[in-house]
Amino acid sequence: MKTLLLNDSHQIPAIGFGTYKANKQNGVDSVLEALKVGYRLIDTAAIYGNEKEVGQGVRQSGIPREEVYVTSKVWREVLGYSSAKAALDKTLRHLKMDYLDLYLIHWPANGRNHENWAEVNSETWRALEESKVEGKIKSIGVSNFWKEHLDPLLATCDIVPAVNQIEFHPGYWQPEVYNYCREKGILVEAWAPLAKGVALKNKTIQNLAKKYQKSEAQICLRWAIDRGTVPIPKTITPERIKENFDVFDFKLTQEDIDAIDRTPLMGFSGELPNEW
Ligand code: NDP
Repeated sequence: MKTLLLNDSHQIPAIGFGTYKANKQNGVDSVLEALKVGYRLIDTAAIYGNEKEVGQGVRQSGIPREEVYVTSKVWREVLGYSSAKAALDKTLRHLKMDYLDLYLIHWPANGRNHENWAEVNSETWRALEESKVEGKIKSIGVSNFWKEHLDPLLATCDIVPAVNQIEFHPGYWQPEVYNYCREKGILVEAWAPLAKGVALKNKTIQNLAKKYQKSEAQICLRWAIDRGTVPIPKTITPERIKENFDVFDFKLTQEDIDAIDRTPLMGFSGELPNEW
């Protein structure tokens, strides 16, 4: 499995497996299938309500814990120093694991939900930093942070976030956040890399699929990889699990990367970190 180097010297797999809405038996089965196919990064979050199933899938796979990269996230309603620590312990209990490879602040506190939002983020971050030192987390990062949320955090943190997981797909790839993270040495993970399926219907993507003899989903994922991000596509469908992993035998030309960059707004979730 190809990996990328994080700013804290840990390695992260070049593609991950998303699990949002993969619940109950689907959660266990899809994680098992993904690990069988070769994925080694599984992305979950407390709010998905499937950490138990993800943990079960990882254990049932028989693959040693240290060979699987597990990510979870602290939900926006429990931000703060002690509540983030309690949330992490709960996540580890649900997963039945004694450490996470990556733990993220799922959404930043912002001016609409916290008067002292910058302090709430930095206090949450302090909990993550301490948990990393204690060995409960290997790498710590954020999700859905824009420059306006990152800057105050960077000004107060001891450890720079290793990752920022953001919405990133053809038609909405947030170049300002993407470029800012790269400038700061923060790796971008791409959530909804298929725009929840919407990008597969775009003409540019369809034409490139024909040109490279690949599926539309594979074109979207390869573009995310060629842009230096780690995409985390989700599917509970076995053929698609395999298809989405089969993206390491080709590369897009710079011209084609640029053409995807220019696709018009599509598939945007509508979720903005400074609005909800
Ligand atoms: P995706 O862009 O990964 O799209 C998932 C949808 O696309 C599903 O409906 C799936 O269907 C379908 N699909 C998957 N592969 C294919 C394929 N090859 N061909 C056709 N259709 C396909 O969206 P997600 O929102 O799930 O994002 C991915 C992951 O990112 C999440 O699961 C989660 O782990 C993470 N995430 C993080 C967020 C954050 O705030 N940090 C927010 C949202 C997501 P089916 O399953 O029926 O096969």
